[in-house]
Amino acid sequence: MQLVDPKKRGSRREEPEPALYAALVDSMCQNFWPMFIGSVSTAVAAVLTALKTGNVLLWPCAALIIGIGTLRAFQMRKYERRTQVLTFEQAKHWEPRYAIGAMVYASVLGVWCFLTIFGNDDAIAHMICVAATVGYTAGGAARNYGRPKLIQYHILLACGPMSLALATHADFFYISLAALLALFFMGLKGINLSLHAIFVKALTSSFREAALAGQFDTALNNMPHGLCMFRADGRLAVMNHRFSEMMNLSEDLIQRSASANDIVAACIASNSISAASGKMILSEIVNTQARDMITTDPDVARGRSLSWTFQAMEGGGAVVLVEDITERRNAEARISHLARYDELTALPNRVNFRDEIGRLLAVQQGAEQLSALLFVDLDQFKQVNDTLGHPCGDQLLCAVSERLREMLRPEDFVARFGGDEFVVFQQNVHSPDDAAGLARRIVDRLSERYKIDNHLVEIGASVGIAMTSRGVSADTLLKNADMALYRAKADGRGTFCFFRDEMAQVVESRRILELDLRKALANEEFELFFQPLVNLKSGRISTCEALLRWNHPVRGTVSPTDIIPVAEDMGLIVDLGRWILRKACMECMKWPEGVSVAVNFSPQQFHQRDVLSEVRYAIEVSGLPANRLEIEITESSLLRNTQLTHDVLSQLHSLGVRISLDDFGTGYSSLSYLHNFPLQKVKIDRSFLEGIDSDRPLTLLRGVARLSADLGMSVVVEGIETNEQLELISADGAVTEAQGYLFSPPVPAVRVRQLLNASHGRRPPDSQLIPVSSRSIA
Ligand code: C2E
Ligand code: MG
Ligand code: MG
Repeated sequence: MQLVDPKKRGSRREEPEPALYAALVDSMCQNFWPMFIGSVSTAVAAVLTALKTGNVLLWPCAALIIGIGTLRAFQMRKYERRTQVLTFEQAKHWEPRYAIGAMVYASVLGVWCFLTIFGNDDAIAHMICVAATVGYTAGGAARNYGRPKLIQYHILLACGPMSLALATHADFFYISLAALLALFFMGLKGINLSLHAIFVKALTSSFREAALAGQFDTALNNMPHGLCMFRADGRLAVMNHRFSEMMNLSEDLIQRSASANDIVAACIASNSISAASGKMILSEIVNTQARDMITTDPDVARGRSLSWTFQAMEGGGAVVLVEDITERRNAEARISHLARYDELTALPNRVNFRDEIGRLLAVQQGAEQLSALLFVDLDQFKQVNDTLGHPCGDQLLCAVSERLREMLRPEDFVARFGGDEFVVFQQNVHSPDDAAGLARRIVDRLSERYKIDNHLVEIGASVGIAMTSRGVSADTLLKNADMALYRAKADGRGTFCFFRDEMAQVVESRRILELDLRKALANEEFELFFQPLVNLKSGRISTCEALLRWNHPVRGTVSPTDIIPVAEDMGLIVDLGRWILRKACMECMKWPEGVSVAVNFSPQQFHQRDVLSEVRYAIEVSGLPANRLEIEITESSLLRNTQLTHDVLSQLHSLGVRISLDDFGTGYSSLSYLHNFPLQKVKIDRSFLEGIDSDRPLTLLRGVARLSADLGMSVVVEGIETNEQLELISADGAVTEAQGYLFSPPVPAVRVRQLLNASHGRRPPDSQLIPVSSRSIA
């Protein structure tokens, strides 16, 4: 709060402010008795001078003095009878009346003095009229400090003619008296002015104080806190409305400046604080030491929390502030609940669970108790979410949490870690069998049907179990159970698995593999091998498939089947795939013109946003014609985002790049893929060759090959290892190309170049067919 200093309002002489003006007028008009006595004295003096001098002219003067004096006395009496504080408007009404009366009275006094002194040597009469006028003027100067101009006019009108008349006597003493009176009147004027200044100053500061008090009052009564101020003697000095309202107190406590004791007793009586809290509050007020405390309403229904702050005041006494913090506390409680509980299922969340089992483990350490931590993961939950929508998924999660809750004993503890992950802490088990029993029951119970919004839903559950051991931490236990869960899922889901130490080693070696892979890409430790695909009609190598190799100094040659899934999980596949694509295109540029390169794309790499620009860039940078590049994708790449996949394939096709469907027959083997997507080649997986010498697999293989050929696609059979296999697959002419160890295993780039030279460079076209009996070209 800021107060404006009136001094700063500018030095220009201004009309007083309305309130000040009214107060100044009021100061003049309310002196009935002094003025009445002065008027009576002057009237008596006038009569005396008329009697003493016998001057008839003085009688009318005496009559006027009495008459005007009486009128003014009536006027002032009337003024004093008013009951209200003088307003500015009323002051403007009263001031001219008073001023006119004063001026007329002063003029009559002036005339009377002049007539008494001029042309008359009666010293007694002179003395009477001088004494009466001087006395009246002095009284007036003391009364009229409110408007100094009035007294100045009075001196001029009443005392001026008197001094003039004295001076006309041409006597040294008369002249001296006139001069002395002039000096006296000047002094009187000075006194009057200084009285005025003092009065104005006092009024101004009282106004300021009143304004200040008003502002404080407004502030106090509008603040959200309740406030009480106690003096050093423990009596109430200030209490704002908010305090009395919060504590339900009556106004009379304020009126009679009650003691701290009374106030606290009244608070207890109104049920706003308990007796115990009241005792503490009282002792804080008495001790007057800065402190905070929180009280709760004894009235449980109201459930109010109040925060009390005590502050000592300089010179004794205390200020007490009270704030209603109920809403804040409720909000804090809500926030802390949200931070520690899952909003959907109301189960404890990860943080809460971790803290809780940390605490339980610490307690159990001493007691040598065995407990189990079961990590539960729902199988096929994602499908429910995807097909029935998230609201149904949410309901399913609630139903799962309900079933879990029902199955547990009161001392067990279940939490949701987010998604479809739940964790159970089973306390005080006798042996791992107890945990296995619970895990089995959980798997069975959660696999029972759910009815969600008229849908019958079936899901499964996998459980990873970690048993507590001496000194195990909550984090380790959770990590172990998670590893066991991973194993349970890998074992075919719908089952449970205990954590074993080897699992940690697997995880650790995987972690090291990840680190190594990152380094390998940065250090270009990878190499591309190439395996030829032989055209069965021409016997020539038509394409070479790029296959990733990693020559690790310690691990030796690492298979791409080990590298690719890890790189996919790490998100490294995009960078790695980019490197493979560019390298393969550049290598192909070194081969005879008719030979293409085939590059494997993993689903993640194929579905990256800028796959098209990646391919375009690789072609441009290497200078390879687009029709010499084949991209091998698997059926899993076709599963996702069908329309988008179709578009990407079409665009790649329009670039001139060919697309092969790799490993056909190992996945969904949906014939609709062959029909719906723009594919140019089908590579039938080598698993089709198993048992090929019997009828059924051969019929199947031939059927797929024929169908693909009829759809206009080239057909490749992978994994040809023997001449017999080759003869069987090539018999009916539907298979166009073959790939396998029979021709060549994957070989380094240098070696494949030699093979290509041998296949394309040296022999004339007619003699390029590789004899069936000696197919191996490696
Ligand atoms: P794929 O694309 O089907 O590659 C053919 C795999 O079969 C190669 O294994 C090859 O060495 C093997 N193979 C070829 N002929 C025969 C045979 O006659 N008998 C037997 N038993 N195997 C044969 P490799 O090189 O270990 O690659 C395995 C898989 O790893 C590949 O299968 C492919 O899916 C993936 N892969 C390899 N390199 C890459 C790559 O650069 N990028 C991506 N995304 N995946 C790759
Ligand atoms: Mg392949
Ligand atoms: Mg394959």
